[in-house]
Amino acid sequence: MADINEILDKAKDLAQTAGEKSQEIYHISKLKVEITQLKMKVDKNYASIGKKVYESKKEEKELPDFSAQIEEIDLLKADIEEKRDLISTLKNAVRCPSCGADVSEDDPFCPKCGSQIN
Ligand SMILES: [Zn+2]
Repeated sequence: MADINEILDKAKDLAQTAGEKSQEIYHISKLKVEITQLKMKVDKNYASIGKKVYESKKEEKELPDFSAQIEEIDLLKADIEEKRDLISTLKNAVRCPSCGADVSEDDPFCPKCGSQIN
Protein backbone atom coordinates (compact mmCIF):
# COMPACT_ATOMS: atom_id res chain seq x y z
CA MET A 1 0.00 0.00 0.00
CA ALA A 2 1.23 3.45 -0.84
CA ASP A 3 2.53 5.59 1.92
CA ILE A 4 0.19 8.39 2.97
CA ASN A 5 2.95 10.92 2.36
CA GLU A 6 3.42 9.58 -1.13
CA ILE A 7 -0.29 10.06 -1.81
CA LEU A 8 -0.19 13.55 -0.39
CA ASP A 9 2.84 14.40 -2.55
CA LYS A 10 1.04 13.14 -5.65
CA ALA A 11 -2.04 15.19 -4.78
CA LYS A 12 0.15 18.24 -4.30
CA ASP A 13 1.78 17.69 -7.69
CA LEU A 14 -1.59 17.37 -9.37
CA ALA A 15 -2.87 20.53 -7.74
CA GLN A 16 0.24 22.38 -8.81
CA THR A 17 -0.09 21.19 -12.42
CA ALA A 18 -3.74 22.26 -12.46
CA GLY A 19 -2.74 25.63 -11.06
CA GLU A 20 -0.06 26.12 -13.68
CA LYS A 21 -2.49 25.09 -16.40
CA SER A 22 -5.16 27.58 -15.33
CA GLN A 23 -2.55 30.30 -15.04
CA GLU A 24 -1.45 29.49 -18.57
CA ILE A 25 -5.04 29.70 -19.81
CA TYR A 26 -5.44 33.02 -18.00
CA HIS A 27 -2.23 34.31 -19.57
CA ILE A 28 -3.38 33.25 -23.06
CA SER A 29 -6.80 34.93 -22.70
CA LYS A 30 -5.13 38.08 -21.41
CA LEU A 31 -2.84 38.11 -24.47
CA LYS A 32 -5.85 37.59 -26.75
CA VAL A 33 -7.60 40.61 -25.22
CA GLU A 34 -4.44 42.68 -25.71
CA ILE A 35 -4.22 41.56 -29.35
CA THR A 36 -7.86 42.62 -29.91
CA GLN A 37 -7.09 46.05 -28.43
CA LEU A 38 -3.99 46.42 -30.63
CA LYS A 39 -6.00 45.40 -33.71
CA MET A 40 -8.56 48.10 -32.85
CA LYS A 41 -5.75 50.68 -32.75
CA VAL A 42 -4.53 49.48 -36.16
CA ASP A 43 -8.06 49.80 -37.57
CA LYS A 44 -8.39 53.28 -36.07
CA ASN A 45 -5.22 54.34 -37.92
CA TYR A 46 -6.46 52.77 -41.16
CA ALA A 47 -9.76 54.62 -40.82
CA SER A 48 -8.01 57.89 -40.05
CA ILE A 49 -5.74 57.55 -43.10
CA GLY A 50 -8.75 56.68 -45.25
CA LYS A 51 -10.63 59.74 -44.02
CA LYS A 52 -7.68 62.01 -44.75
CA VAL A 53 -7.34 60.56 -48.27
CA TYR A 54 -11.06 61.09 -48.83
CA GLU A 55 -10.98 64.68 -47.61
CA SER A 56 -7.87 65.51 -49.64
CA LYS A 57 -9.40 64.11 -52.81
CA LYS A 58 -12.72 65.81 -52.21
CA GLU A 59 -11.12 69.18 -51.57
CA GLU A 60 -8.54 68.55 -54.30
CA LYS A 61 -5.67 69.05 -51.89
CA GLU A 62 -2.35 67.29 -51.73
CA LEU A 63 -2.25 64.11 -49.65
CA PRO A 64 -0.91 64.68 -46.13
CA ASP A 65 2.16 62.83 -44.85
CA PHE A 66 1.17 59.51 -43.33
CA SER A 67 4.63 58.33 -42.29
CA ALA A 68 4.02 58.72 -38.53
CA GLN A 69 0.79 56.71 -38.75
CA ILE A 70 2.37 54.08 -40.98
CA GLU A 71 5.16 53.72 -38.44
CA GLU A 72 2.62 53.39 -35.63
CA ILE A 73 0.72 50.69 -37.55
CA ASP A 74 3.96 48.77 -38.11
CA LEU A 75 4.82 48.96 -34.41
CA LEU A 76 1.34 47.77 -33.44
CA LYS A 77 1.58 44.90 -35.93
CA ALA A 78 4.98 43.87 -34.56
CA ASP A 79 3.50 43.91 -31.06
CA ILE A 80 0.58 41.72 -32.24
CA GLU A 81 2.99 39.24 -33.84
CA GLU A 82 5.05 39.08 -30.65
CA LYS A 83 1.96 38.31 -28.56
CA ARG A 84 0.81 35.69 -31.09
CA ASP A 85 4.19 34.00 -30.91
CA LEU A 86 3.97 34.02 -27.13
CA ILE A 87 0.53 32.36 -27.28
CA SER A 88 1.93 29.67 -29.60
CA THR A 89 4.80 29.08 -27.20
CA LEU A 90 2.40 28.79 -24.26
CA LYS A 91 0.32 26.29 -26.23
CA ASN A 92 3.48 24.34 -27.17
CA ALA A 93 2.62 24.95 -30.80
CA VAL A 94 4.48 26.32 -33.80
CA ARG A 95 3.07 28.87 -36.22
CA CYS A 96 2.27 27.88 -39.78
CA PRO A 97 4.67 29.91 -41.97
CA SER A 98 1.92 30.42 -44.52
CA CYS A 99 -1.30 31.25 -42.63
CA GLY A 100 -0.05 31.79 -39.05
CA ALA A 101 -2.27 29.12 -37.50
CA ASP A 102 -1.09 27.27 -34.40
CA VAL A 103 0.11 23.84 -35.47
CA SER A 104 1.55 20.95 -33.51
CA GLU A 105 5.25 20.43 -34.09
CA ASP A 106 4.49 16.83 -35.06
CA ASP A 107 2.15 17.83 -37.90
CA PRO A 108 3.85 17.61 -41.29
CA PHE A 109 1.19 19.85 -42.83
CA CYS A 110 -0.95 22.73 -41.57
CA PRO A 111 -4.50 21.43 -40.92
CA LYS A 112 -5.88 24.85 -41.85
CA CYS A 113 -4.16 25.67 -45.15
CA GLY A 114 -2.23 22.51 -46.03
CA SER A 115 1.19 24.15 -46.13
CA GLN A 116 4.21 22.05 -45.22
CA ILE A 117 5.40 22.79 -41.69
CA ASN A 118 8.93 21.41 -41.56
ZN1 LIG B 1 -1.44 27.24 -42.51
